[in-house]
Amino acid sequence: MSEIILRTKGLKKVYGKQAAVNGIDLKVERGTIYGLIGKNGAGKTTTLKMIGGLAAPTSGAMEIFGKSGAALGSVRNRVSCLIEDPGLYGNMTAAQNMYAKCLAFGIKDKKYVDDLLRLVGLGDVGKKKAKQFSLGMRQRLGIALALVGEPDILVLDEPINGLDPEGIVEIRDTLTSIARDKGITIIISSHILEELSKVATHYGIMHKGVLVEQMTAEELQERCSMRIEIVTDHPDKASTVLDEMGITKYKVVDKETIQVTERLEDVAYINRELNKAGLLVSKIAVNNESLESYFLGITAD
Ligand code: ATP
Repeated sequence: MSEIILRTKGLKKVYGKQAAVNGIDLKVERGTIYGLIGKNGAGKTTTLKMIGGLAAPTSGAMEIFGKSGAALGSVRNRVSCLIEDPGLYGNMTAAQNMYAKCLAFGIKDKKYVDDLLRLVGLGDVGKKKAKQFSLGMRQRLGIALALVGEPDILVLDEPINGLDPEGIVEIRDTLTSIARDKGITIIISSHILEELSKVATHYGIMHKGVLVEQMTAEELQERCSMRIEIVTDHPDKASTVLDEMGITKYKVVDKETIQVTERLEDVAYINRELNKAGLLVSKIAVNNESLESYFLGITAD
């Protein structure tokens, strides 16, 4: 496993009597695109604010680049956040907005600004003022601004929210190039798993302030992949039949269900073999759970 650059332990944030984030243990590896997914109010924004140092945790611990407690201050400038509005100057062009931010970092290099604008797909917006930008362009300029100063971790709260399909593709491409070309670790939140699934390499699924699952993209894919679902009175005996058929990729999921993830075309043949062995099969079908239904299933109330 590669280096874990961000880790939280029992991280909690209470507003009044309500725990917006209720003790989460996050782990983010270097170079990944970590998608924090959850419905509205799940606690994503509050989590990102704590990571970015914009909200103080009520309790729990956080470690970034191996620093925790008071020492966190020394690594804060390696984390850059775009949470809520990108805070653009509407009367300025993309480049002028960038120069305004660069000033604070002592950067005067035109090429530096040009390169970052090109990276987010705004290389040719010229004299257009930010107030004339589409929502997607505003988001991408927000991302370019967040990249000034070469952060190692980029934190983005719902950058896809409200964008049209074209805008979504542009943001996705932008994030993929940032991770690939600059080696920046990205933590991004969304309430739409399907959208996140096109960029994220890792996932944290939040529900009511709790991190209910953490997994890699491969693990998620596996959980949502095509499979034969068999409902029978004796899954243990059914597994013996599958063994005899040379089927190895199966799992007994509960006392009446087996899932098979290979030889999907052999569903009728498997059914016949189970019947031959005297098993009662009340259901056998090829299922494919969509990402969205998987997500809704584990975040059901
Ligand atoms: P959304 O996508 O709607 O922003 P979210 O997953 O980002 O959802 P949060 O914004 O973190 O969720 O909010 C989690 C809970 O904490 C919500 O019930 C919200 O009302 C509450 N909350 C968030 N910020 C504050 C605050 N500053 N004061 C009081 N309650 C807050």
